[in-house]
Amino acid sequence: MAFGKAVTGIDNSGSFRVYMGISTGIVQEAKKLHNTSPLATHLLGRALTGTGLMGLMLREPGMKITMQFKGDGPAGQVLCTADSEGHVKGYIVHPLVEMPLRDDGSLDVSGALGHGTVTCIRDMADSKEPYVGKVPLESGEIAEDIASYFYQSEQVKTVVSLGVKLDENGEVLASGGIIVQLLPDASEEALSALEEWLPDMPKISELSHEVTSNADGRSDDAVMTEFLERAFLGMPDKFAVKPLDCLDFEWKCGCSVSRFEQGIISLGVKEISQIIEEDGQAEVICQFCGKKYDFDRKHLERLEAVAAAKHID
Ligand SMILES: [Zn+2]
Repeated sequence: MAFGKAVTGIDNSGSFRVYMGISTGIVQEAKKLHNTSPLATHLLGRALTGTGLMGLMLREPGMKITMQFKGDGPAGQVLCTADSEGHVKGYIVHPLVEMPLRDDGSLDVSGALGHGTVTCIRDMADSKEPYVGKVPLESGEIAEDIASYFYQSEQVKTVVSLGVKLDENGEVLASGGIIVQLLPDASEEALSALEEWLPDMPKISELSHEVTSNADGRSDDAVMTEFLERAFLGMPDKFAVKPLDCLDFEWKCGCSVSRFEQGIISLGVKEISQIIEEDGQAEVICQFCGKKYDFDRKHLERLEAVAAAKHID
């Protein structure tokens, strides 16, 4: 089922914020568009879910976050972008990546990514300079990398868990994630309650699968409340988590002819005229969704004129 919902919450003492999402629909769409191997589905699915949840932390509509996981392994780079309204998109450079299983039989997600860096770019709505943070990849498992990014780059203690559940044919059964972030005024007691809860936290892909497959006609909000409650089962009342906001969590590319026109204009007069001379046309493919945009000679000449008028050489 292509389920996609996110829920935000806060504990009773105001010590920590919670961002949780079931991203099954997002990861199914990514698998369909990029035809990913099981290993790539896990890697891209975790990155999409984590980035989508980080998008919910953005304060204003119009802001955007991009997470780039770049390693020296065979997967190459994974890049995801999300807004504050639960829309996510992303791609992996080598979607067919395969690796031998680890000794314990698990997929070698961190081996696929290898050693490298995590870069986080936050675009502000009012086109101020974007905020950019960059740290080394901690493990290549994505969840640990996001937690370590928050700690190293922003000095915020964060718990992150992300997971994708596939069937034996590599199809996406469920996907989900959770980010718990300590607020500045959190007490020591809240911190130790979280530390005690951590080993009992259910496996997030399993929980996502269970609550959506037993939905029985209940509303999405009811499903997400159960998701939240079951994740924090056993947390003392004082730190019990209540839901704040429930919203759609969806794949959305948002590419358009005009967006690619802007890209071509920014190449400048010299490069556009070179394309016109050499190829007489241009085909641009969206990296995120694979959609093709064709620009014929006339169209390119028009864009060249715009670049000239804007004095972009
Ligand atoms: Zn697109």
